[in-house]
Amino acid sequence: MTKIAVGSDVEAYCTKCRMVLAHSVIAMQGAKPRRVRCNTCSGEHNYRATKPVAKAPPKKAEKAAKSTTKKTRQSWEEVMQEASARPHKKYSMSGSFGEGDWIEHATFGLGCVQSFIPPNKITVRFADSVRMLVCNRT
Ligand SMILES: [Zn+2]
Repeated sequence: MTKIAVGSDVEAYCTKCRMVLAHSVIAMQGAKPRRVRCNTCSGEHNYRATKPVAKAPPKKAEKAAKSTTKKTRQSWEEVMQEASARPHKKYSMSGSFGEGDWIEHATFGLGCVQSFIPPNKITVRFADSVRMLVCNRT
Protein backbone atom coordinates (compact mmCIF):
# COMPACT_ATOMS: atom_id res chain seq x y z
CA MET A 1 0.00 0.00 0.00
CA THR A 2 1.45 3.31 -1.03
CA LYS A 3 1.51 6.11 1.47
CA ILE A 4 -0.75 8.96 0.52
CA ALA A 5 0.72 12.42 0.87
CA VAL A 6 0.11 15.89 -0.54
CA GLY A 7 0.66 15.62 -4.27
CA SER A 8 -0.25 11.93 -4.44
CA ASP A 9 -2.71 10.72 -7.02
CA VAL A 10 -5.76 9.15 -5.46
CA GLU A 11 -9.04 7.87 -6.68
CA ALA A 12 -11.75 10.10 -5.36
CA TYR A 13 -15.27 11.03 -6.13
CA CYS A 14 -15.43 14.31 -8.00
CA THR A 15 -18.43 16.39 -6.99
CA LYS A 16 -18.31 18.25 -10.30
CA CYS A 17 -17.71 15.35 -12.71
CA ARG A 18 -19.96 13.19 -10.58
CA MET A 19 -17.81 10.13 -10.88
CA VAL A 20 -14.79 8.49 -9.29
CA LEU A 21 -11.68 9.90 -11.00
CA ALA A 22 -7.97 10.43 -10.41
CA HIS A 23 -7.33 13.35 -8.09
CA SER A 24 -4.22 14.99 -6.67
CA VAL A 25 -4.12 15.40 -2.92
CA ILE A 26 -3.74 19.03 -1.92
CA ALA A 27 -4.36 18.70 1.82
CA MET A 28 -4.14 15.84 4.28
CA GLN A 29 -5.93 15.12 7.50
CA GLY A 30 -3.96 12.55 9.43
CA ALA A 31 -3.39 9.61 7.09
CA LYS A 32 -6.31 10.51 4.87
CA PRO A 33 -6.62 13.06 2.09
CA ARG A 34 -8.75 16.01 3.09
CA ARG A 35 -8.85 18.15 -0.01
CA VAL A 36 -8.20 16.97 -3.53
CA ARG A 37 -7.98 18.45 -7.00
CA CYS A 38 -9.68 16.67 -9.84
CA ASN A 39 -7.28 15.80 -12.67
CA THR A 40 -10.15 15.98 -15.10
CA CYS A 41 -11.88 19.25 -14.29
CA SER A 42 -9.18 20.77 -12.02
CA GLY A 43 -11.85 21.43 -9.44
CA GLU A 44 -10.86 21.44 -5.79
CA HIS A 45 -13.14 19.85 -3.26
CA ASN A 46 -13.14 17.80 -0.09
CA TYR A 47 -11.94 14.23 -0.48
CA ARG A 48 -14.66 11.68 -0.90
CA ALA A 49 -13.59 8.09 -1.56
CA THR A 50 -16.74 6.93 -3.27
CA LYS A 51 -19.90 8.30 -4.71
CA PRO A 52 -22.14 9.46 -1.88
CA VAL A 53 -25.06 7.17 -1.29
CA ALA A 54 -27.76 9.47 -2.53
CA LYS A 55 -30.62 7.07 -2.35
CA ALA A 56 -32.48 9.16 0.20
CA PRO A 57 -34.63 11.28 -2.16
CA PRO A 58 -36.07 8.39 -4.26
CA LYS A 59 -36.63 6.35 -1.13
CA LYS A 60 -38.44 9.25 0.42
CA ALA A 61 -40.60 9.69 -2.67
CA GLU A 62 -41.44 6.01 -2.68
CA LYS A 63 -42.37 6.18 0.95
CA ALA A 64 -44.55 9.20 0.30
CA ALA A 65 -46.29 7.43 -2.55
CA LYS A 66 -46.87 4.43 -0.36
CA SER A 67 -48.34 6.44 2.46
CA THR A 68 -50.58 8.24 -0.02
CA THR A 69 -51.91 4.91 -1.27
CA LYS A 70 -52.44 3.78 2.27
CA LYS A 71 -54.18 7.01 3.12
CA THR A 72 -56.55 6.61 0.18
CA ARG A 73 -57.38 3.09 1.21
CA GLN A 74 -57.85 4.15 4.81
CA SER A 75 -60.15 6.96 3.86
CA TRP A 76 -62.15 4.59 1.68
CA GLU A 77 -62.42 2.19 4.60
CA GLU A 78 -63.48 5.07 6.79
CA VAL A 79 -66.07 6.07 4.24
CA MET A 80 -67.27 2.48 4.11
CA GLN A 81 -67.51 2.35 7.86
CA GLU A 82 -69.47 5.56 7.93
CA ALA A 83 -71.73 4.37 5.16
CA SER A 84 -72.41 1.03 6.80
CA ALA A 85 -73.59 2.93 9.85
CA ARG A 86 -76.01 4.92 7.71
CA PRO A 87 -79.08 3.50 6.03
CA HIS A 88 -78.39 2.06 2.62
CA LYS A 89 -80.43 0.34 -0.01
CA LYS A 90 -80.25 -3.31 -0.83
CA TYR A 91 -79.27 -3.69 -4.45
CA SER A 92 -81.67 -5.39 -6.82
CA MET A 93 -82.01 -5.17 -10.57
CA SER A 94 -85.50 -3.73 -10.19
CA GLY A 95 -84.35 -1.08 -7.74
CA SER A 96 -83.95 2.57 -8.56
CA PHE A 97 -80.73 4.29 -7.51
CA GLY A 98 -79.16 7.69 -7.90
CA GLU A 99 -75.74 9.23 -7.60
CA GLY A 100 -74.41 9.17 -4.08
CA ASP A 101 -76.68 6.37 -2.94
CA TRP A 102 -75.11 3.64 -0.88
CA ILE A 103 -76.15 0.17 -1.84
CA GLU A 104 -75.51 -3.25 -0.46
CA HIS A 105 -74.81 -5.89 -3.07
CA ALA A 106 -75.27 -9.57 -2.18
CA THR A 107 -71.90 -10.49 -3.74
CA PHE A 108 -69.79 -7.32 -3.83
CA GLY A 109 -70.81 -5.81 -0.51
CA LEU A 110 -71.23 -2.13 0.15
CA GLY A 111 -70.78 0.29 -2.70
CA CYS A 112 -71.39 3.90 -3.58
CA VAL A 113 -73.27 4.81 -6.73
CA GLN A 114 -70.96 6.92 -8.87
CA SER A 115 -73.29 7.69 -11.71
CA PHE A 116 -76.62 6.78 -13.21
CA ILE A 117 -76.56 5.92 -16.87
CA PRO A 118 -80.05 6.23 -18.32
CA PRO A 119 -82.18 4.34 -18.70
CA ASN A 120 -81.14 1.44 -16.52
CA LYS A 121 -77.48 1.28 -15.53
CA ILE A 122 -75.44 2.53 -12.61
CA THR A 123 -71.73 2.49 -11.95
CA VAL A 124 -70.96 1.58 -8.38
CA ARG A 125 -67.70 1.86 -6.54
CA PHE A 126 -67.07 -1.13 -4.34
CA ALA A 127 -64.07 -1.64 -2.08
CA ASP A 128 -62.04 -3.40 -4.78
CA SER A 129 -63.36 -1.99 -8.04
CA VAL A 130 -65.97 0.00 -9.89
CA ARG A 131 -68.71 -2.12 -11.42
CA MET A 132 -71.59 -1.43 -13.74
CA LEU A 133 -74.87 -2.76 -12.52
CA VAL A 134 -78.35 -2.94 -13.97
CA CYS A 135 -81.21 -1.14 -12.28
CA ASN A 136 -84.75 0.03 -12.99
CA ARG A 137 -85.53 -3.36 -14.52
CA THR A 138 -89.24 -3.91 -14.67
ZN1 LIG B 1 -13.82 16.67 -11.76
